[in-house]
Amino acid sequence: MGMGVAGSYLMARLKNSEHKVVGYERSKKERHDSICAWGTIKSTMTELCNKVGIDFSKYVIHDGKKMHVIMNNQTEFDIGLHGLCTYNKIGLIQDFIKDCDVRYGEAPKLEQLEAEYDLIVDCTGFHRMYLPKLEKDFFLPTYEYKIEYQDKVPFDDFLIKPFPGMSGYFWYFPLGEKLAHIGAGDYNKQHIEETDKFFKKYGGKITKTVGRPIRLATPDLCKPFYHGKVVGVGESIGTVYPLLGEGIIPSMICADIFLEHMNDPKKYEKAVDDYYKIYGKVFKFVRKKIHKNFSIIKSLADVLAIFRYMKKNEKRFGMEIHMRDLLKVAKA
Ligand SMILES: Cc1cc2nc3c(=O)[nH]c(=O)nc-3n(C[C@H](O)[C@H](O)[C@H](O)COP(=O)(O)OP(=O)(O)OC[C@H]3O[C@@H](n4cnc5c(N)ncnc54)[C@H](O)[C@@H]3O)c2cc1C
Repeated sequence: MGMGVAGSYLMARLKNSEHKVVGYERSKKERHDSICAWGTIKSTMTELCNKVGIDFSKYVIHDGKKMHVIMNNQTEFDIGLHGLCTYNKIGLIQDFIKDCDVRYGEAPKLEQLEAEYDLIVDCTGFHRMYLPKLEKDFFLPTYEYKIEYQDKVPFDDFLIKPFPGMSGYFWYFPLGEKLAHIGAGDYNKQHIEETDKFFKKYGGKITKTVGRPIRLATPDLCKPFYHGKVVGVGESIGTVYPLLGEGIIPSMICADIFLEHMNDPKKYEKAVDDYYKIYGKVFKFVRKKIHKNFSIIKSLADVLAIFRYMKKNEKRFGMEIHMRDLLKVAKA
């Protein structure tokens, strides 16, 4: 259920398996899109796409060299990039499900699905349509424009502006010579104002306006993962790295974990708990910052654990990880 990044990748991985798989997407085919800034990491996406015989390099739009960060106290710095790119996300989703049985414009009721299928995979992202509602959900509202510039883009690489107190950030993600995604997510709801401020300053033509909440509650807070015949995969069970709002790769990895344990829900739950354990720690750090009860001294051990994890996985995050940058963000 849901042909986002998790559902479509799962379809591609199951296409030639022993299972009969049917995909449902509530949007009509001509309106099917992906509300997202389309930023990801080349090396990991290449590995994941190789599993379904797709060459990821064909979808890359902009290959990042550096990300410019503007802090609210006017401090500015650059982060060296090694693999962070933008890509044609909806194009790849559509290619994942090419030749699959996908029913667009349909969001059947749970009872209907239960009567027809052995297993229902909830890949409906934030909506989590087929699983029980979460008790302790946590999400940020977002807003985004796709902008077409007349001559050329105002910035030729990635730019972000974190909001005060780490309540979210504004982003400018280039999409080739004339296009860019500009948008923001903010717990304190300054996201629309900040996006419009940038738009007024740099102009361009808005070709699309979108927005939906992004779930920051991590898998440890998104139980149950399964209920009756339904099992959740992707953002429906909180697979977003809360510090960055990165959900594409984590949701595809969740699909891989699901495939490994699809006959054993308990093992799936344990494998998800293990893989996303650090996400829970990162979420607690972000939440403390947002709720203004963060103390660098009390949270030093967590900050160090997050730094060590990101430093060890520098290639996976596609950017240079330095303690000084993490502290600048933590102190903001
Ligand atoms: C504005 C914004 C910008 C983002 N930018 C980035 C980024 O640059 N990089 C990154 O890594 N992550 C980003 N993310 C996060 C990332 O987009 C998501 O975490 C990721 O796409 C989750 O994938 P998913 O397949 O689980 O869910 P989704 O991609 O949300 O897909 C869910 C699908 O289910 C469909 N659906 C919903 N309900 C039903 C139903 N009842 N029946 C059938 N279909 C249904 C929806 O139409 C949709 O197609 C961003 C998120 C937002 C909101």
